[in-house]
Amino acid sequence: MPELETIIGLEVHAQMNTKTKMFCGCDNDAFGKQPNTTVCPICMGHPGTLPVPNREAIMKAIKASLALRCTVNRENHFDRKHYFYPDLPAGFQISQYDFPLASKGIVRYELHESSGKTASRHKCNITRLHMENDAGKLTHRGKKTLCDYNRAGTPLMEIVTEPDLRSADEASAFAQELRRILIAVDASEADMFKGMMRFDASISLREKGTKKLNPRSEIKNLNSFKALEKALQYEEKRLRKLWEQDGGPLKCDITVGWLDEEEKTRLLREKETADDYRYFPEPDIPPMVLDERMIEEIRATLPMLPEEQKAQYLALGLDEKQADQLIDQPRLRAIFDAVHKKTGDAKRTSSIVLTQLLGFLNTHGRPVEEGPDATAILALIRKIDDGTISANAAKDVLGKMVETGKAPAAIIEEEGMQQISDDSAIQELVSQAIAANPQAIESFKNGKEAALGAIVGWVMKESRGQADPKKVNEMLKQSIAQ
Ligand code: ZN
Ligand code: MN
Repeated sequence: MPELETIIGLEVHAQMNTKTKMFCGCDNDAFGKQPNTTVCPICMGHPGTLPVPNREAIMKAIKASLALRCTVNRENHFDRKHYFYPDLPAGFQISQYDFPLASKGIVRYELHESSGKTASRHKCNITRLHMENDAGKLTHRGKKTLCDYNRAGTPLMEIVTEPDLRSADEASAFAQELRRILIAVDASEADMFKGMMRFDASISLREKGTKKLNPRSEIKNLNSFKALEKALQYEEKRLRKLWEQDGGPLKCDITVGWLDEEEKTRLLREKETADDYRYFPEPDIPPMVLDERMIEEIRATLPMLPEEQKAQYLALGLDEKQADQLIDQPRLRAIFDAVHKKTGDAKRTSSIVLTQLLGFLNTHGRPVEEGPDATAILALIRKIDDGTISANAAKDVLGKMVETGKAPAAIIEEEGMQQISDDSAIQELVSQAIAANPQAIESFKNGKEAALGAIVGWVMKESRGQADPKKVNEMLKQSIAQ
């Protein structure tokens, strides 16, 4: 057996988060709506209707293309791609064939150890990004099939990679980075649970050191990172076994489906020739000529991309796992950024947001969305900074905020957690502490600085954490010196 190398390329379909569909004015958000209620004659493919390209979709697709470091093609056009299937009302999809919106990009991504540390850095070239419309959704029930066309006409970006990926892990890590980029530029919500991002993965083997691409197996319609990984792992093993049996690669390209429950692939078709979709230029939409200035204007609005975001968080002193947590959870990031902006202290911010807040959310089994928002956390921090509560007590308040959803002020009031900053009350406690800890006082007087900590601790305990430790410290030193 020669040493074999695995070659993987992906085609990714991502639904765009535009207000309306790709070629008509129908509501593009069909989530939770009755079947066939966000449709019109255009997206139902009625004869005599005219498609009008969605400007918002084009702008967002250009932004995504630039974020993927693609060249946006000044001249591109739409084509009809013909196939017959009940989820495609017009009998053709309006796509882009030989003149796509963008080509030749690159995505850098990392593989991680389980600790979150970067294990290796990689890049994957992007062949193209083009726009098209989504098909409807079929639900098979026994012998019957239900058709819902709400999704028909939703704008899609199809992103095709070069066969640059070498393992299931690489494919998954790349796909996750791609998702982060699409979310960062607000081109797609890329919500995997809602099927907003779907993958077709092509996999083949070749002898290490050779350059030729052998016939590949294409796994259709994977809609989670888990499915992408598992399907590729399964198919890779299967192709290796076949190579062993046959002494070589597949004889022709094949298409397979992934059976999620059985965790295996199933042959859909073998093909000697490429599918003939009878592409031709869409006669109802004139070619698009994009203005260079407009492209540059869009480039100027590009937000910070995940790669830079991560570098920035690492520079603040966060570890890789913390940085990834922030990048993958926009709401958590918003809280972190707001707190950091206010405090200017990354260490303090990460202790409050990434250690305490995430810890409490975990304990109570709540997603970040259901926990306190940035405003509530900032209100808590103000209570620490203005001396109302100690940092220690604040931790308890935060726990209660997660548990009850109440505002910090209300919790402090109800629980009587206000810090004692009244000097005479603290002085009283300090005097008691000195009387109660003669040995510690003795050691402190003999130069053992650490002994003071024990006495401060005693006061804090007596005051149930409500004394201001800074004040306690000062007053203790004064009293002992007298
Ligand atoms: Zn419509
Ligand atoms: Mn497509």
